[in-house]
Parts: sequence; structure tokens; C-alpha cells
Amino acid sequence: MASSLKSLVNDDSRYQKSFKLFLERSSEHQCMLDFIHNLLPDILASIGDGKSHLNVIGVGSGAGEIDLEMLSELRLKHPGVTVDNEVVEPSGQQLHNYRVLVSQKPGLDYIKFNWNKMTASEFEEQWKEKKMTKKADFIHMIQMLYYVKDIGATISFFQSLLAKNGKLLIILVSGKSGFGKLWSTFRNQLCNTEMSQCVTTNDIKSILDSKGVKYQSYELPSQLDITECFTEGDEKGELLLDFLTEVMDFSKTASPELKAGVMELLRHPDCSVESNGKIMFNNNLGVIVTDQLT
Ligand code: SAH
Repeated sequence: MASSLKSLVNDDSRYQKSFKLFLERSSEHQCMLDFIHNLLPDILASIGDGKSHLNVIGVGSGAGEIDLEMLSELRLKHPGVTVDNEVVEPSGQQLHNYRVLVSQKPGLDYIKFNWNKMTASEFEEQWKEKKMTKKADFIHMIQMLYYVKDIGATISFFQSLLAKNGKLLIILVSGKSGFGKLWSTFRNQLCNTEMSQCVTTNDIKSILDSKGVKYQSYELPSQLDITECFTEGDEKGELLLDFLTEVMDFSKTASPELKAGVMELLRHPDCSVESNGKIMFNNNLGVIVTDQLT
């Protein structure tokens, strides 16, 4: 990234604000919930190998809404199981939100939550230091692999924790999404800092293909309303722009040329469709499911 541009993830408070707005303006969580209710149950059916206790690890869980929904599908598929749920989440704010959600939702007694306020790599370090031998039946990393340094190594580590018939679920933006187009066009200006990379499920597929790892994949249609980004000086539009570019204060800090290029591409048919006066950005997600390595 050009030195004048700061990565959005360096500022947790602004990151969380822009992520919250992104969730409000997009069908992101709805499309994940559709996946969880329609396709995930069959994926979860095969895990566990008949055990009455299952180990789950959520990496980058955020406020936990999606995690709890998956856990409830897991319980439906495996009635009567108890669950040990490791939550790996570096943001204290998000971890707090998750705990509040758990305290408000009835019927979660079958789950024991272990809160790990740390990054994926800190969790890996700790796991290795403690020489843990516990295996996991279901591990998920939803919209978080952008934030790790070595994606291949992170996937390999978590895959090595899978129990027999265990599944690793990865969700990121799809290579065919507007994000994919935006990031591939402006990769050199916007991406590849140490903290945040502009990866899509296409990149994950290439990594897995190069290692000969088999996987199943799904494409989930989703949209993001970016209309406000085109009102100069609009506070919400600027927050969304930060989220799209992963750059902190993009509008104020990017060069006029870069800004013009990004704004033009955002509403280009490669990224968005215009309907009823709204500009809807393609926010399609990609899902990848892998098994234990054999
Ligand atoms: N899975 C949630 C949240 C996605 S946002 C959802 O889909 O709604 C990405 C999350 O990853 C944030 O909560 C962020 O704090 C977390 N995160 C950032 N860097 C991380 C890292 N290195 N390891 C694990 N989680 C990370």
C-alpha cells in the first residue's frame, strides 16, 4: 500500500463502525443464514463420528450471531450432543458483544464457551505451547482470513486440528464479487499490507489446489447498497468506502487519481447494478469446505 494510506484494521473502533454499517447496508448475514439453514445441515450431518460431545472452533467470530446460528443447526443435526466451543477473536469489543448475546439467548446450556481474546496465530502458538491434543469436529473462519499474515499456514494448522470426519468451513468474498474486481484492479495501491490482504475464495482455491487439498465450494449471492458512497462528504458513504477499500479515511487520504478510479469502478457494471436509483454492489460470498487431511 502507498505509504500515505493506512489500513482500516489498524483502528479497531473505526473498523467495527464500518463493519456494522456494512452489515446494515448489505444482505451479508441474510445470505449466510440462508446457507446455514439450507446447505450447512447436510455438511454438519457427517461430522462427529457418532460422538455425544463435539468440539467446535470459531476463528474471527465477531459478535457471534452467525456462530450461534451454526451451533443451533449443529444441535438439530446431532440432538443431545454437548459442545465445547473455542471462540478466537482479538477484538475485545466484539468478544464482549458475543458474550452479551450468549447471556441473552436461552437454551445454550449444551455449549461450553471458551473465550480466547487473541488472533488466529496467537491461538496457534498457545495451542502448540500447551501441547494440546484435542481435536475439533467443526472449525469455521468466516470473513477473517484477510487479516492473517500467512493464509496457507493458517489453513494448514487449523486443518491439522480436525478430528475424523471433521470439517473446516471458510467464507470469504467470492472472486466473482465486486470486491474481487475492485481489489484485483487496485491491488498495488490498496492491498497487501501485513495486516490485511485483499483475498477472495479464488485465492484460497489456488492455495488448496497447489497443495492437492480437496474441497467443496459454493457461491452465495449477496448485495451491498453503496449509493451513499456517491454523495460527496456523506459520513456513512465514507465509512462504507473505508470498508470497501480496507483503507482508513480513504476519501480524505487517497490521491485524487486513485479516488476517481475507485469511484468509477465501484459503479461500473463489473461491480454493481443500478436499480430504482440505488447502486447495488456485488457482495457475493464464496464458501469452501475441506475435510481432515488424509
Ligand atoms: N465472522 C464474523 C465477523 C467477521 S469480521 C461475521 O462474519 O460476522 C472479521 C473478524 O475477524 C473481526 O471480528 C475481527 O476482529 C477478527 N479478526 C481480525 N484479525 C484477526 C486475526 N488475526 N485472527 C482472528 N480474528 C481476527
